[in-house]
Amino acid sequence: MKFIIAIDGPAASGKTTTAKNVAKKLKILYLDTGAMYRAFAYFVLSNNINLEDEKKIDGMIKQVRIDFKNINGEIRIFLNGEDVSDKIRNEKISQAASKISTLPVVRDHLVKLQRELGKKYSLVAEGRDIGTVVFPKADLKFFFECSVDERAKRRYKEYLEKNITGIDLESLKKEIIERDDRDRNRLIAPLRMADDAILIDTTNLTKEEQIDLVIKEAKKFKDRL
Ligand code: C5P
Repeated sequence: MKFIIAIDGPAASGKTTTAKNVAKKLKILYLDTGAMYRAFAYFVLSNNINLEDEKKIDGMIKQVRIDFKNINGEIRIFLNGEDVSDKIRNEKISQAASKISTLPVVRDHLVKLQRELGKKYSLVAEGRDIGTVVFPKADLKFFFECSVDERAKRRYKEYLEKNITGIDLESLKKEIIERDDRDRNRLIAPLRMADDAILIDTTNLTKEEQIDLVIKEAKKFKDRL
């Protein structure tokens, strides 16, 4: 039987690690919707289009093809055939993605793609509006929360592990706050917890604990079927 798990929450709250691992354990698809907004932003920046020029972006939307592929067990994202998975993980793209994600034309386009995948496959989808807008009838919904300090520390550690330098903790914290603010206060599909979502505060949880909590709920759900 097909089912959908939605995980929403702010930047660096632990959604990605959890969603990826839960999808692996349950042997279903992992859908990183943030990566889609990032790939879209990468396209806009690469074509020197102003991030606020909705008309121009609308005109180019048909030229943007986004696909996911499983490469040696890892889900990678492709923009018009190019693997951009690593190129979209930096602060410039984080901010650009957050900006273009306020545009209705971009959201309509990406939400359509996400729903098409949800029609075909069981999946764990993570983002900002999964439980509220993309899959309001998802079988299980989670909302992750985490203190800003802890989130900045986690992102900082991730960058260090990837040997990305030139980033300091304080500016990272400022960027996270700025992005949170834009994501929570935009007019369309703002980041908010769905009424029927389970709230998980990950500030003091390990990765394993986060994953276990979601798996436990998924098992309860399956037992009820
Ligand atoms: O999750 P991630 O940090 O990769 O998302 C990048 C940006 O994409 C977010 O800051 C947010 O503005 C946007 N986004 C969104 N809706 C989603 C997923 C991401 O607006 N479902």
